[in-house]
Amino acid sequence: MENFQIEVNGDGIALVTFDVPGRSMNTLTASVIREIGELAETIKSDAAIKGAVITSGKTTGFCAGADLGELGDTEGFGADLKAAFDTGFALNKAFRALETGGKPVAAAINGLAMGGGLEFTLACHYRVVADNPKIQLSLPEAKVGLLPGGGGTQRLTRLVGVMAAAPYLLEGKSMKPAEALGLKVVHEVVPADQVVEAAKTWVKTKGDPVAPWDRKDFKIPGGGPYSVSGSQVFIMGNAMLRKQTYGNYPAQLNIMKAVYEGLQVPFDAAIRIETRYFLKTLMSPQAKGMIRTLFLSLQELGKGSGRPAGVPHYDVKKVAVLGAGMMGAGIAYVQAMAGIETVLIDQTQEAADKGKGYAEGLVKKAVSRGKMTAEKGEAVLALIHPTADYAEVKGSDLVIEAVFENREVKAGVTKLAEAQLADTAVFGSNTSTLPITGLAKASVRPASFIGIHFFSPVDKMGLVELIMGEQTSQEALAKSIDYVLKIEKTPIVVNDSRGFYTSRCFGTFVQEGMELLSDGYAPTIIDNVGRATGMPRGPLEMHDDVALDLSYKIAQQTKKDLGDKYEERPFTAIIEKMVEGEGRYGRKNGKGFYDYPEKGPKTLWPGLADLAPVRIAEVDKAGIEEIRVRLLYRQAVEAARCFEEGVITDPREADVGAILGWGFAPWTGGPVSLIDGIGAARFVEACDALAQKHGARFAPPQLLRDMAAKGETFYGRFGVKEKAAA
Ligand code: NAD
Repeated sequence: MENFQIEVNGDGIALVTFDVPGRSMNTLTASVIREIGELAETIKSDAAIKGAVITSGKTTGFCAGADLGELGDTEGFGADLKAAFDTGFALNKAFRALETGGKPVAAAINGLAMGGGLEFTLACHYRVVADNPKIQLSLPEAKVGLLPGGGGTQRLTRLVGVMAAAPYLLEGKSMKPAEALGLKVVHEVVPADQVVEAAKTWVKTKGDPVAPWDRKDFKIPGGGPYSVSGSQVFIMGNAMLRKQTYGNYPAQLNIMKAVYEGLQVPFDAAIRIETRYFLKTLMSPQAKGMIRTLFLSLQELGKGSGRPAGVPHYDVKKVAVLGAGMMGAGIAYVQAMAGIETVLIDQTQEAADKGKGYAEGLVKKAVSRGKMTAEKGEAVLALIHPTADYAEVKGSDLVIEAVFENREVKAGVTKLAEAQLADTAVFGSNTSTLPITGLAKASVRPASFIGIHFFSPVDKMGLVELIMGEQTSQEALAKSIDYVLKIEKTPIVVNDSRGFYTSRCFGTFVQEGMELLSDGYAPTIIDNVGRATGMPRGPLEMHDDVALDLSYKIAQQTKKDLGDKYEERPFTAIIEKMVEGEGRYGRKNGKGFYDYPEKGPKTLWPGLADLAPVRIAEVDKAGIEEIRVRLLYRQAVEAARCFEEGVITDPREADVGAILGWGFAPWTGGPVSLIDGIGAARFVEACDALAQKHGARFAPPQLLRDMAAKGETFYGRFGVKEKAAA
């Protein structure tokens, strides 16, 4: 075999080492799946083998599960359903053969076991895991829109009961060895160098080759679906699932179905049920989009796939952050966590110290919760030097400017910092709205001037949007990507435009919420349907979060900049009255569309009814669908415009940026995957209808019409391969 080495000693115990050649980590490739079947057959039929211990030959872990690259490629898959079932069932069949071969098999888990990797161990009769809290045992399939298809839905539930298994199956929650022992998912936790020995001892002394569910007296912990307690779990579970997913995620629903149906039949039938639901889920557009965006593309961008070649790696060791406000303070913290020496500058020493205080607070919390050692905490804080003196910028490899959103203030600090910089250093502005090309006018080295746009809160948000000004060099871009990767965030690269890519598209969600409000829809309907689209919150709630006065100021500025081209909308007056007349700035001052009392949940502001009278207080199913489509398509059509204008050029960046940057409904795989899934022709048709009814903001750009005529997709037309060829 290519992936497994078998060594049988005098004691008759086969030590099986799982080691996929040429890869740093074991995954369940097609060849591995085939060989697990062969392995089961060898163990069963070789008279010299009394039992087996399976361990990994990799230092990186036991097995990371399915090869999502292989799995995600479902083009043409499913045309022949019988063949698809056989392919999908191969893993279950191989695991089951191992489990029912009549000889005891123990798993010696010496590192992480995820997805199919954990399922492999669950098909063994005994599990020993190394005592290392860093080891993760999990079934993370649901996170990328999939269903554990190697027996996980059936074995985990039969081991721990439906209720206890739910968070691991439905949310992909991972367990550490101690937790797994407590749940009885594993049998022993021993020091890392003793896993194989302990597993062997079990095989030799107790070795029982029958899984619990193959015994006559087997009972599902907590009861099966038809028991009194078991049925309760499903009734509650269905309601909770609906509340959390709004029916947008087929994976979670199919997991529930596979468990419900599978627990009522013998194990061999149960795994066939699981495979059917696995395939149904795998072939859904949601799984396709989620695997591509949330796994494959995220991984590629996380390795800097958009980085211009030919520029040597730039190791950023010292960074000056200008402005120690909300953003600057957060940026200083993530930099220090990545080991970067940080000069944190503000107008006064006091303001700079206050900025460092943010990191101090986070470190204190982490240390008190045991998530960070006191030494590490001290080392992190020692890297942040708060000051009001620009002389300290000297020696910085990079500057991040995060002062007030004001051209003059930004120009002033650009000059002060640049006076201290070496020629090789990069200057990045964290502006959220001001075009980079314009800001670069204050710079004497515009080729090294770039937009480095963070998201708030900086320590939690994984995306950084890099914005190329007209003169920004490829070298500055490459260096900025190296920096973003060093602070462990995901970069996307966009070209200069009002609102760049993320703010521009996100803004349309909030604006469409306002359009709905001025159309007379009840605010509760708008936000409820908004959440049901899969967005993290409704558009009015999100508007409160980003601040109404900010959106008001941006509108004023845009009006000034665009002059006659600015289109006044009915909702502008509502915001104007709320901000200017009522001092309602959003969540930050406790007054927006909602009132935010100190204690208790937010409530709708009663005064809103006077500014935006409710004319539509009830909607039927078709009405809900119309709102849903308006909120989602409005964002997607804006993303398409960004492609047409060259603001964004890579579908992967558009999709990853949307989900990570503004929480675009993850089940879609992103706005571009959404359009590709619907098909350009159907999407254009729908947008034309929306444009006729609601206005030109829905009008599809020419690019989409061209794509519709040619039957193209974004991933086909702008895909990575095409880019390389061009
Ligand atoms: P903030 O008001 O919290 O902080 C700005 C800081 O800059 C203040 O501490 C201020 O004292 C300091 N400052 C002003 N003039 C200065 C000068 N001449 N020298 C040194 N320091 C000076 O604002 P913020 O929310 O942190 O935003 C900062 C920048 O980041 C803005 O450009 C904003 O558009 C952008 N941004 C904000 C967000 C967000 O969610 N708040 C997100 C992305 C980008």
